[in-house]
Amino acid sequence: LASRLQGFGTTIFAEMTGLAIEHGAVNLGQGFPDFEGPDFIKQAAIEALSSGHNQYCRTQGIPELNRAIAEHQQRFWALDYDPDTEVTVYAGATEAIYATLAALCEVGDEVILFEPYYDSYRASVAMAGAHEKLVTLRGPDFSFDPEQLRAAFTPKTRAILVNTPHNPSGKVYSRVELELIAQLCREHDVLAITDEVYEHLVFEGEHIPLAGLPGMRERTVVISSAGKTFSFTGWKIGHSCAPAPITRALRSAHQFITFCNGTPFQHAMVHGYRAPDAYFEQFEAEYRARRDKLCEGLADVGFEVLTPAGTYFAQTDIRPLGWDDDFEFCRMLPEKIGVAAIPTSAFYSQREAGKHLVRWAFCKTDAVLDEGLARLQKLR
Ligand code: PMP
Ligand code: GLN
Repeated sequence: LASRLQGFGTTIFAEMTGLAIEHGAVNLGQGFPDFEGPDFIKQAAIEALSSGHNQYCRTQGIPELNRAIAEHQQRFWALDYDPDTEVTVYAGATEAIYATLAALCEVGDEVILFEPYYDSYRASVAMAGAHEKLVTLRGPDFSFDPEQLRAAFTPKTRAILVNTPHNPSGKVYSRVELELIAQLCREHDVLAITDEVYEHLVFEGEHIPLAGLPGMRERTVVISSAGKTFSFTGWKIGHSCAPAPITRALRSAHQFITFCNGTPFQHAMVHGYRAPDAYFEQFEAEYRARRDKLCEGLADVGFEVLTPAGTYFAQTDIRPLGWDDDFEFCRMLPEKIGVAAIPTSAFYSQREAGKHLVRWAFCKTDAVLDEGLARLQKLR
C-alpha cells in the first residue's frame, strides 16, 4: 500500500456493517436508507434502461441532467450556474470531493478540514498529495474556536472544506460561522469546497450555501448528492457547481477518474431534481418524524441525546449509561444487544475528543427504528 494511504485502515462503515450482518443486528450505523426512493424516479430508470440509454455519456453528465441540477440550484438557493460550463456530474459526492482536491491542489498545499470529518476527506486530501489542517468541533454544540480557525489559514492554504449540514454531528453551520469562514477565504484568497449532501435535511435553523455569501461564488465548489436527496445511494450520482474556470479544472480530473457514471441513472435523476416542491417538503417532514422517534427512544434508554439540527444522524453521549469508550461500546453492541452504531471518535484525528459519543442513523423505516430501540432497552 502506498505510504500516502497508510494509516487509514478499513472505513468504519464497512467494519460496523460487517458486524451488523454477522450478528443479525439492526443496522443504525452506516447511513443509507432501508427503504426505496420515489417510484417516479425508479420507473424513469427502468424506462431509461429499456430504451437504450446504456452506453457512456458525456463526461460532464447528460445535458438534461446538468440543466436540471442548475434549475434545482436556482429554485432552492437562488444561485445561478450555467449548465454547460459550470455543472458536472460524478459517481457520487465522494468522487466529486476527490476530483476537486485532485484538480485544485498542488503537492504540499494545505486543506483545512473540520473534525469530526466525513471519513473520505482526509484520505482524499492525502491521495491528492495535499496536507490537512484540522479545526475541532466539540460536543455538545460542535462549535469551533474562531481563533483556531484563523490560525489554520497559512500562506500554503489552498482550500477549506465545509460540510453543512454536518455528518457526523448533525450540526447546521450558522450564518455567523459561515461569514467568518467566507471572510477568511477572501482575506487569504482561499477556495471553499462545500459538501451539502444533506441540504434538504434541516430541522432547526436554515441551510445557508457558503457560495451565496459576498465574494464566495467565484471561489466555491458546491458539491451535493442525488443519492442522498432521492434515497438511491447505490446509484452513485453526485454533482458540483462551480465557476467555469474552476469547472474546467474539475472536469480535467473527473475525465480520468471515472470518465462518466451510470447513464440510465442520470436520465432518471432528471426527474428527481425537477420533482415538485412537495417532494422536498415531504422528505424533510418524514425525516423530522424519524429524528424525533429515534431521539426520544434513545433518551428513554438513558443516553444524553444531542438532538441534530440537520442530516439523518443523531449523536449521543454514552457516559450516563456507564460507558466511556465508543469503540468498545460499538464493538459490543451488535453481538450483545443486536444493534449496530458508529463510534464518533472514528471521525476525529485525536480519539479523545469523540470517545464518549456514538452516532445513530435514522434513515430507517419506523419498524426498524422501533425494533432497534426495543433492543437497546436491554442497556438500561
Ligand atoms: N459527504 C457526506 C457528508 C456524506 O455523509 C456522504 C455519504 N453519506 C457523502 C459525502 C457521499 O455521498 P455519495 O454517496 O453521493 O458519494
Ligand atoms: N455517508 C454514510 C455515513 O456516513 C456512509 C457512506 C459510506 O459507507 N461510505 O454513514
